Amino acid sequence: MDAIFLEKIRGDYPEVRFVPGQRFSFRPPKTVVFCDDSNSANPLLLLHELGHFLTGRFDFKTEIERLKIEVMAWEKAKELAPLYGVFVDEDLIESELDSYRDFLHQKSRCPLCGLTRFQTPDGVFHCPKCEMF
Ligand SMILES: [Zn+2]
Ligand SMILES: [Zn+2]
Repeated sequence: MDAIFLEKIRGDYPEVRFVPGQRFSFRPPKTVVFCDDSNSANPLLLLHELGHFLTGRFDFKTEIERLKIEVMAWEKAKELAPLYGVFVDEDLIESELDSYRDFLHQKSRCPLCGLTRFQTPDGVFHCPKCEMF
């Protein structure tokens, strides 16, 4: 991770802990973990994790909520990027979001009949074919 970028962002968000680690992640309430190996140290990913802090939404019950939270954090990252001279790589953002969309798709599949299930607000998946209401 670029040292000047890190210093600036630490100065701008003194309330957030930025710690190096294996992979980019956000640990509520205020820790941003950034991957410090040169290949994957894209500052846009750090801004995304910071976006999680700034949106203040960490809890989700359904996979749709989770996807929304991810989109919100990316919106924040896009807002912040020009302030730090960070390139907004839309392809990267789409591929990151795709992993959540794929996950949602996989989890939605009914293991019995293969139909797409839906998730109620309590987080439970229901199959329109295998379950009677
Ligand atoms: Zn995220
Ligand atoms: Zn089913």
